Amino acid sequence: MAKRLMNYALDTWVEGSGQQQQTVSALNGEAVSEHSSEGLDFAAMLYHARAVGGPALRSLTFHQRANILKGLGQAITARKEELFALAKATGATRNDNWIDIEGGAGTLFSFASKGKRDLPNGHVIVDGEPEIVSKGGTFIGQHVYTPIQGCAIHINAYNFPVWGMLEKLAPTLLAGVPAIVKPASSTGYVAEAAVRIMLESGLLPQGALQLIMGSVGDLFDHLTGQDIVSFTGSATTAAKLKAHPVVIRESVRFVAEQDSLNASILGPDAQADTPEFDLFIKEVAREMTVKAGQKCTAIRRAMVPAEMMDVAEAALKSRLAQTVVGNPDQDGVTMGALASLEARDAVRRNVGLLAQESQIVFGDPIAVDVAGGSADDGAFMSPILLRNNDPWNASSLHDVEAFGPVATLLPYADVADAIALANRGMGSLALSLFTYDAAVARDFVMGAAAFHGRMVIVDRDCAKESTGHGSPLPVLVHGGPGRAGGGEELGGIRAVKHYMQRTAIQGHPSTISAITGTYIQGAKQIEADVHPFRKRFGELQIGYTLKTDARTITLEDIEHFAHFTGDTFYAHMDEEAAARSPIFGGRVAHGYLILSFAAGLFVDPDEGPVLANYGLEGLRFVKPLKPGDSMRVELTVKEKKQRDAAQGEVKWQARVLDGHGELAAVYD
Ligand code: NAP
Repeated sequence: MAKRLMNYALDTWVEGSGQQQQTVSALNGEAVSEHSSEGLDFAAMLYHARAVGGPALRSLTFHQRANILKGLGQAITARKEELFALAKATGATRNDNWIDIEGGAGTLFSFASKGKRDLPNGHVIVDGEPEIVSKGGTFIGQHVYTPIQGCAIHINAYNFPVWGMLEKLAPTLLAGVPAIVKPASSTGYVAEAAVRIMLESGLLPQGALQLIMGSVGDLFDHLTGQDIVSFTGSATTAAKLKAHPVVIRESVRFVAEQDSLNASILGPDAQADTPEFDLFIKEVAREMTVKAGQKCTAIRRAMVPAEMMDVAEAALKSRLAQTVVGNPDQDGVTMGALASLEARDAVRRNVGLLAQESQIVFGDPIAVDVAGGSADDGAFMSPILLRNNDPWNASSLHDVEAFGPVATLLPYADVADAIALANRGMGSLALSLFTYDAAVARDFVMGAAAFHGRMVIVDRDCAKESTGHGSPLPVLVHGGPGRAGGGEELGGIRAVKHYMQRTAIQGHPSTISAITGTYIQGAKQIEADVHPFRKRFGELQIGYTLKTDARTITLEDIEHFAHFTGDTFYAHMDEEAAARSPIFGGRVAHGYLILSFAAGLFVDPDEGPVLANYGLEGLRFVKPLKPGDSMRVELTVKEKKQRDAAQGEVKWQARVLDGHGELAAVYD
């Protein structure tokens, strides 16, 4: 019996009416689930997200939202076996599903920790330093990011029903934006179960997450400029959706991740006896067979120096011959089925197009031995390696994506030729290069980076720890220019900003400080009546400033410091040489001596709430101090970040001033 899947709209599970769309197991064609989104009020769903989910999420700080992501990751992890059990019907191996399910939870964890570490426990992301646009410093500019106030529409591909959903959801929720998720129909039953787990965790505010199983109906007719569509799938669907009149009229943000003819290149230095050659062969074969090649980042074009074609072909064939295709429940199976019979048929069709210009040298698109299953019932397929000896006179290999276990081997003449061929894919998600020659790597990056979203350079020294050609990482950009869609997902906090608006705000430093929660030079200070080291984290206010007494730096101090530390640089020790210096014009105090004296001036020594100094940032020695000069410090609370319930970090701005009140050194 097919399981009836539900939609989640307006915080309620709803069954779609009318004709149900059926999904079947990729392994044997048996019914798995059915769904419909008919009857949903799509406009009301959008309104609910904007009116209920958005305000609820925006009322939380980044750290509170990060905690939600962590909790969602824990919920998925705790119930992962339910998802693994369902995901069997997608045809994927346990290892493939590990990437999807645990990789998905891992993405939530990664964004949770990034959110806690790299974002403030507030509501605004400050972008860059203040811009001083006035002479007196009373009027400044500051860029900030705030969450968009619409809804994120996530349309996902079938290949990674969990990871594909969570890699979009994590940055969206962290930004403070609600989402409506629409999984691909053929594997949507896994996504639906993952959504249930997340909702049952009780962590998400109302309206933060809704689910459409099936058609999006008239949803696009109701989008506004505060909404965003984040799409993964084919270029054809992306083009259609991007051209929707409302998307154009309202300038709706549209992030597209679409197909990609990713290349992997064997460097000209990587002869058959080098570790780089072995690594290349292993990676190409692995990328062809992991997830049965249904990865947007999979290697489609394997490029080698022309004289290496035969040896590379032989090595790849012998590696691919080790693939055991079949039902992943059977021992020894290394590659499962494609996600559906339709997907397999589409791959066969595209292999047919490729084979008009290239020669199939391994595998048969129709016939395959299947361990524990039947090629008649399940979407099984052999890995297919094609070879093309004349890649400049062929177009299909640079243009046709066979979204399955398929790659083409092709020759290049020299590095410039390899770069030009790689770029002929007109934009890809990932390129890998196997070379032990840094000059080749540099040429490749300069020649090809503009065409590729991620470049992986693998050699014998990094191979063991390399994350591989095809693995997008939460902290690195995923996306690519041109035919890859022109979108960008992941990439740590960069991804969060796609769901936020950058605004230049202008005003007095005090006003800007109050908005950003960061002290800005020129903002009003709160003069300390109690030493700040006597105050607990929660009692310290941004702008709270200690102004220390002054001390005079003597020649004896400088001599003592020089001999004590061993830093007898001429500028501190040799009057004549220092006098010749265009910078110092005489002996000056060590910068580190100034820092040490600064600490001596502002520190309150007794045991108290202050635990430790974790480091300095932005240190600049602005003006040298000479023997006889005096110095004092202004110590201001610049930023505060709660680490956990017990501890927090205070960023102090220290300004060292000379006897004339001029800045000698500054640091956080
Ligand atoms: P697809 O047909 O374009 O479907 C992708 C998604 O769009 C599915 O959720 C689909 O829903 C939905 N969709 C289709 N027509 C729609 C419409 N008119 N309005 C709203 N939604 C619509 O792509 P696919 O063939 O399933 O996926 C494979 C492709 O995705 C490959 O080309 C692959 O390269 C690409 N891909 C790219 C990435 C990446 O990150 N760049 C990742 C994975 C896959 P239904 O399933 O209900 O039709």
